[in-house]
Amino acid sequence: MVHPRMGDAFPILSTHDIERTAAFGSLRNYAKDSRLFQSGQTGDGLFLILAGHVTLCQRDGLGHHEPMYEAGPGQFLGEIGQLSGNRALVDAIAQGEVQARLLTPGCLRELVVADASLGERIMRALILRRVMLIERGIGGPLLIGPGGSGDMTRIRGFLTRNTLPHRVLDPATDARAKSLMESHSPAADELPLVVCPDGTILCNPSENALAMHLGMLDLPDEDKVYDVAIVGAGPAGLATAVYAGSEGLSVIVLDARSFGGQAGASARIENYFGFPTGITGQALTARAFVQAQKFGVKMRIPMRIKQLDCSRKEGDLLILGEEGTQVRAKTVVVATGARYRRPSIDALSAFEGRGVWYWASPIEAKICADQEVILVGGGNSAGQAAVYLSAHVAKVRMMIRRESLVATMSKYLIDRIAATPNIELIPNGEIFSLEGDAEGRLNAARWRERGTGAEHRLATGNVFLFVGADPETDWLADCGVILDKSGFVVTGVGSDAHPAPALLESSVPGVFAVGDVRCGSVKRIGGAIGEGAQVVPALHAFVAVA
Ligand SMILES: Cc1cc2nc3c(=O)[nH]c(=O)nc-3n(C[C@H](O)[C@H](O)[C@H](O)COP(=O)(O)OP(=O)(O)OC[C@H]3O[C@@H](n4cnc5c(N)ncnc54)[C@H](O)[C@@H]3O)c2cc1C
Repeated sequence: MVHPRMGDAFPILSTHDIERTAAFGSLRNYAKDSRLFQSGQTGDGLFLILAGHVTLCQRDGLGHHEPMYEAGPGQFLGEIGQLSGNRALVDAIAQGEVQARLLTPGCLRELVVADASLGERIMRALILRRVMLIERGIGGPLLIGPGGSGDMTRIRGFLTRNTLPHRVLDPATDARAKSLMESHSPAADELPLVVCPDGTILCNPSENALAMHLGMLDLPDEDKVYDVAIVGAGPAGLATAVYAGSEGLSVIVLDARSFGGQAGASARIENYFGFPTGITGQALTARAFVQAQKFGVKMRIPMRIKQLDCSRKEGDLLILGEEGTQVRAKTVVVATGARYRRPSIDALSAFEGRGVWYWASPIEAKICADQEVILVGGGNSAGQAAVYLSAHVAKVRMMIRRESLVATMSKYLIDRIAATPNIELIPNGEIFSLEGDAEGRLNAARWRERGTGAEHRLATGNVFLFVGADPETDWLADCGVILDKSGFVVTGVGSDAHPAPALLESSVPGVFAVGDVRCGSVKRIGGAIGEGAQVVPALHAFVAVA
């Protein structure tokens, strides 16, 4: 079936539109059968076909090759990755003589910013193409192994959160997957097998190993000094990136896992300005992720930061990553948010990612479909998750330590929970241990009544924990940034060393903090985004005199 938005995804530009691109590109000629770009390799940019035809082909790491689309004069080739010079996800093969105009990633960004109406159509098409590739699993790795395993969920979650296409092949039904399993005979802990687009086969890879093979970690220029380095790509970091990038600052964003932060895990945000019907955190932050790249912001994800060196020995701040990489910048924005709190429950870590979840996305909802689940926590995020899960599972048992939800949850959510028949509230309860079956899958939780001490057992394969978070500030140890007693970054408070910091500036000149990680911030998406916008004039002012 033809995709309903095919016209938007593959528009044909008019002669007038084509003329408007002339100042941004250079002419290229290709002979029959030559490749304009190739799946798995860094492309030159976006190609606008002026004469001839080009076939787009999908190719996977197991050698399967299939034509998908033929593009002709007035059409352009590329998807959203071309905005940042990422690796191509499909092959483009000239059908005969082809003349095209190449817009390098930098020129493409200039065009979409300079020409708003043409830029809007090009951006929409590039985003839709990525969406289509994701929907059909084209251009990314193939995952082979048991569908519901913890590691399959982990890897799929990583790829999904980073908007990378992928496909799961079941050896029981797919002959190629079956034959690969037979030839590799992987041990249980080597699953899933991940077949990268270049044919490399990885056994149950870490996120970093996978990212490296997919080109996500193509190293930034370590000698470059950015105006702004933002650590954390949640709403606060992404908002800073969009506003700083759009105002001409050179910006890099670093994140340990994926863009979106905690908000990216939110199944439905209903209280964000301008979205009366709600929006998923992933959809909201994916827009910002693309928008930031349109303004030339560099993304380096995943990259966990382990240390900040504020000594300015060579004049700049130095950010050190876990893998030994480093980034130099005149200013640093700390936007690392907070991490999920792990309550003291026996055997908790044994079931993390295999029945214990800290977020409720469509992936977890599918795993738990039609089952009875327990959800621990009484805050707004717990409430949203309970309501979301109730539409997919047989029953949600919502366990809270307090007598009621009144002091911890917004009223609209309390009302919605009360009106949802398959959510049962268990007040004054706390889980103290988890039990698994012979294969290590969670099958029960033991809990205690806080008043009486009476103990109970509930059969369940899935427990969701939404019990708050601690600031992600370990990496700031010993760099001079003052934290409050809970570890949040203190901003806007003068000291002998730095008597007049800006409102969102820490005790170290040039180091700023925004969002959940900042002491006194409103722990809400709107607050995080607002601070991201608010910090930019201070960054500008600092860079101007640095
Ligand atoms: C399930 C859920 C639902 C929610 N729903 C709502 C809602 O409906 N409305 C609302 O207003 N708020 C909601 N919230 C709260 C909201 O998501 C947060 O307030 C917001 O995400 C904070 O943004 P942030 O950018 O400050 O931090 P975060 O979103 O926490 O992002 C921080 C980022 O920093 C990265 N990071 C951390 N340490 C490092 C390191 N050392 N190196 C590199 N990167 C690092 C993390 O990977 C993360 O991506 C919800 C939260 C959750 C969990």
